[in-house]
Amino acid sequence: MTKRPRVDGAVSERERSTLNHGSCPVCGYRGFVFGPRGGVNLNIECGRISCRTRFNVALFAGAVQHAQRIDKRVEGGPAWPSEPLQ
Ligand SMILES: [Zn+2]
Repeated sequence: MTKRPRVDGAVSERERSTLNHGSCPVCGYRGFVFGPRGGVNLNIECGRISCRTRFNVALFAGAVQHAQRIDKRVEGGPAWPSEPLQ
């Protein structure tokens, strides 16, 4: 299991700002793939195949209000319908 930056997995304000500008706080790649969603929450995954870091983001008025890291596929996260083609 990958060590998390915080106990609750919440991203820093700087990381949240990076997400709001469309880029991955981990690798800087600009672009995300959508995963499961419910209510104001949307799971997103970095579009860079070598990164694929996942976040659960809470959206309001088109902006990320809160975000936390969630398990990547390689960390035991579930498969999504948007899995990349092999
Ligand atoms: Zn990334």
